[in-house]
Amino acid sequence: MVQKRKLKLKSSARKPLIIVSAVILVIIIIVCFYFNRVGELKSLGYSETAANSIIFKFKYSYIMGLPFNKTLNAAFESDDYIENNLDNYAKIDYEEQEHLITNINKLLDKGYSNNEVSLIISRGDDESVSEFVKRDKVKYIEEFLAVDYAKLENYDRYLAYKEKENDDAETTVLYVNMDFDKEDYVDPLVIDEFDDYVLVNKHRQLSSEYVPDDLVTIDDEYVKADGEIEIERNVAKAFYDMAEAAAEDGMELMVSSGYRSYEDQEEITNTYLELYGQNYVDNYVAKPGFSEHQTAMSLDIASKTVDTFVNSDEYVWMMDNAYKYGFILRYPKSKEDITGYKCEAWHYRYVGKEIAEYIHENNITYDEYYVMFLDN
Ligand SMILES: [Zn+2]
Repeated sequence: MVQKRKLKLKSSARKPLIIVSAVILVIIIIVCFYFNRVGELKSLGYSETAANSIIFKFKYSYIMGLPFNKTLNAAFESDDYIENNLDNYAKIDYEEQEHLITNINKLLDKGYSNNEVSLIISRGDDESVSEFVKRDKVKYIEEFLAVDYAKLENYDRYLAYKEKENDDAETTVLYVNMDFDKEDYVDPLVIDEFDDYVLVNKHRQLSSEYVPDDLVTIDDEYVKADGEIEIERNVAKAFYDMAEAAAEDGMELMVSSGYRSYEDQEEITNTYLELYGQNYVDNYVAKPGFSEHQTAMSLDIASKTVDTFVNSDEYVWMMDNAYKYGFILRYPKSKEDITGYKCEAWHYRYVGKEIAEYIHENNITYDEYYVMFLDN
């Protein structure tokens, strides 16, 4: 009979097994613990990379005590993370910029406050912020850049304008963004892509290639001029709506000018120059590329019966009602210093109902509206 040997390990062989088991158990616990923490961080909003980095840098408890913050996430994802700046990252507003963390570090290093850093990165793009961080610390950051539509790239111009004019920060930012610190027609921005909201003035020129793509011809019954008048399709529609409403009030609205090409404007300028001289041209005639008529979004309105528009009932009706149809008086009497043009009672710009209503109610010009809300 074969005696079953009892399977019994010697005590000297049992010890390593216990140790190995214990080590495996500890590893399992650590791994579970780790994945649990990664999961928690990810559920807060942190990326996998940031979550790993947070755990390996032993910042899990710190981070879990804070609301999710995209700047912190970016910092933990970045090779440029600096532990001393951790509290700052948590208080700086995030911007989608390639060198965000590098630039934040440099700005903090120069002594800017968290709020100043937030403003600097929010008013510039990656390129302008990366340039700005090379400079020594500057003053008035909070004054200028707290204005919503301030631009970091214009900082030096704000400073120069403030020193010269001593206006408040908001006016300074508004006027510099409108290029009031530059001479008319000098170094203008040149625009070549069609856009319904385009702003044209003495600092913003349309290129000779700027041609609207959806022109229609205004119905003959509304034309008070020799030949055809073309205009952008939506502007024509809005004009017909407006003319019908005006007709119900006994008004007879007509159009005396619409789209004018770059070449048309060249001809007009030369004609007026010969007839009335340079002074007249400077005040009343837009140079080629500087006429809003090239946008196809502007109409010169006329009265069917009265030749001088400003003396007509239609003029009064337009002042009260045009905005309801999306049109604004582009060069009002009270705003000559802002538009740079003498009042043109007949020249209306189509901007859509919402913008027209805002401009009408707030008594501002399209130049101001554009800088405040559309110029990004
Ligand atoms: Zn006009």
